[in-house]
Amino acid sequence: MKKRGKLLIIGFGPGALEHITGRALAALDESEAVIGYNTYVDLIKPLLHQQEIVGTGMTEEVSRAQEAVRRAEAGQIIAVISSGDAGVYGMAGLVYEVLIERGWNRAEGVEVEVIPGISAIQSCSSLLGAPIMHDACTISLSDHLTPWETIATRVDAAGAADFVIAFYNPRSGKRTRQIEEARNILLRYRDPATPVGIVKSAYRDKQQSIVTTLQDMLEHEIGMLSTVVVGNSATMVYEGLMVTPRGYERKYSLGADTQDLKPHERLRTAAEPWSLAASAKSSVDMKASLVAENAVTGSTEREQQPKTVLLVGHGSRVAEGNVELREFADLLAARKPELTFETCFIELAQPSIAEGIDNCIRGGATTVYVVPIILFAAGHSKLDIPMAIDQAKLKYPAVQFVYGRPIGVQDKAVDILLDRIKEALPVVQPEQVEIHPAKVEDKDTIILVMGRGGSDPDANSDFYKMTRLLWEKTNYKSVESCFIAIAKPSLPEGLERCLALGARKIVVLPYLLFSGVLMQQFTEMVALFAVAHPELEVEIGSYLGLHPLLADLMTERIEETLIGQSFANCDNCRYRDEAAEHHDHNHDHHDHHDHHDHHHHYGEEGHGEHGGYEEHYDHTHEQELQHGHGQGHEHAGHTHEYEVTTQATPVTDSVGR
Ligand code: SAH
Repeated sequence: MKKRGKLLIIGFGPGALEHITGRALAALDESEAVIGYNTYVDLIKPLLHQQEIVGTGMTEEVSRAQEAVRRAEAGQIIAVISSGDAGVYGMAGLVYEVLIERGWNRAEGVEVEVIPGISAIQSCSSLLGAPIMHDACTISLSDHLTPWETIATRVDAAGAADFVIAFYNPRSGKRTRQIEEARNILLRYRDPATPVGIVKSAYRDKQQSIVTTLQDMLEHEIGMLSTVVVGNSATMVYEGLMVTPRGYERKYSLGADTQDLKPHERLRTAAEPWSLAASAKSSVDMKASLVAENAVTGSTEREQQPKTVLLVGHGSRVAEGNVELREFADLLAARKPELTFETCFIELAQPSIAEGIDNCIRGGATTVYVVPIILFAAGHSKLDIPMAIDQAKLKYPAVQFVYGRPIGVQDKAVDILLDRIKEALPVVQPEQVEIHPAKVEDKDTIILVMGRGGSDPDANSDFYKMTRLLWEKTNYKSVESCFIAIAKPSLPEGLERCLALGARKIVVLPYLLFSGVLMQQFTEMVALFAVAHPELEVEIGSYLGLHPLLADLMTERIEETLIGQSFANCDNCRYRDEAAEHHDHNHDHHDHHDHHDHHHHYGEEGHGEHGGYEEHYDHTHEQELQHGHGQGHEHAGHTHEYEVTTQATPVTDSVGR
């Protein structure tokens, strides 16, 4: 009787012989022939005795799989080798697909054994510390066989769900943009400071591993022998190692010899307010059980859990504005290490307020302190955020929400403007230097402060109060106010006004939180004016940004929210529902500037093992189409939009974006 052939599909691990499993060694030993990508065969050569090495010239993995199946059917015991695990972007699936194509069945067909190996996610993570301690996923960035749209959707989902991600096939000679795009997607969800590990050739010669951040990762070498591990929102770096906490600190004091919670108390619902059991309970139920169980344990759950602050920024079409807002949030978090922070956006960036609240609850919050990073009270703080909180209250009846207030008219904000005046720079015009050799005095100088402007007189007049306070503190000829949107005077009108008042020098300051579309428009408009008026000295100041006094102000807002001093409590506002009806924002939580890439693949190139030699066969034709989403839309006549916030809405906001 003919000998029954056998397919041994072997994952031999990252590379070093000592990381090959015992079964893989035995299977190799048992095999009569070995088939695999040359580099891999070379790696395991020391383990071979007289096995035939098959198809060294065979560059395509499909031909290798077919050849392996043919030989097994002819009665041979053949080892098909993959690096790492053969079932992770390796040969296992392909061999089965070829078998299926040939009508194979388990009872009569050739015998198949898949022998597991240590995959790159594990070998690379071991060198980085312990980055995949919590829920993790692998994503291959190779779009040779997978449409980019699918890959991007998965990166997006993994980002939103806060998975630790191991990117396989991150980059090659020709495929360079995928890792950049993936990083951009993740920056919508993750802090630029998120730890990222890049490991090249783990457990092979020339092994390299580095720990960097999402912000800086592209400055380091990433190639087809690298795996990129992106941490989740909790991943930290210690001694150059990435560690993702699993949540032990929620229940245990890791430095203490004795634990507050006794073993029998640890599994109680009240000790796990983040659990499914807890969320299923009604709020009444929950409170009752907390009281009862706390009476037993003698400690309150709230004492063990750090308070969670949800910072709500506006969101910008300009990525830099969102990055700055996140940097600012980090600054605040660093000042208050005893608190847990989450950041979210009203519009134009993600996570949305609802997602931000979800993140807080997922992190174990039972009370969410919602603090807006917004300059003045108007539609966003009076309506949008309270409405999102109302929705969340329905979704999480057991959770309490405490809402803070916007920054408002503050002396410290005036002091920031004073600093910004000092640092203001001339709008560069070399010829001006000759015209104004002498310093223009304060009595001939007008300060023009530009706010966002909106249809809420409350907020517009708050802005005027700010600029008046600035005037009170200075000796300038005047301090004038203007707006970049909706309210009058406009920026050009404000500049003309300074001219009419007889200014010899104008210092123009934006009262905006971070960079964005409005800052760009502001800078352009001031430059145009300066060019048209060479007789004037025009200086331009920076936005508020990361000024330490702004962090002071926000810290005050956070602290007062924590003690429940919410001055902007809209819960009981009888005007709110009414106003909400007219408040037609058409808010859009998608960035309209998304690029939709359409990749067209032609032909069946050799794809290597997506990491081996695949790139020599890169015939991918890329065609990039940008879809403009320029549908204009009307804002309801009576909008409550105002916020001089992280801005985002360009001047044309009232007529369409
Ligand atoms: N079957 C393999 C994956 C093959 S896809 C496994 O389970 O590990 C090829 C990709 O795997 C490479 O682009 C790289 O991202 C990753 N990879 C494989 N071996 C690696 C190693 N030793 N060091 C770093 N990355 C590796």
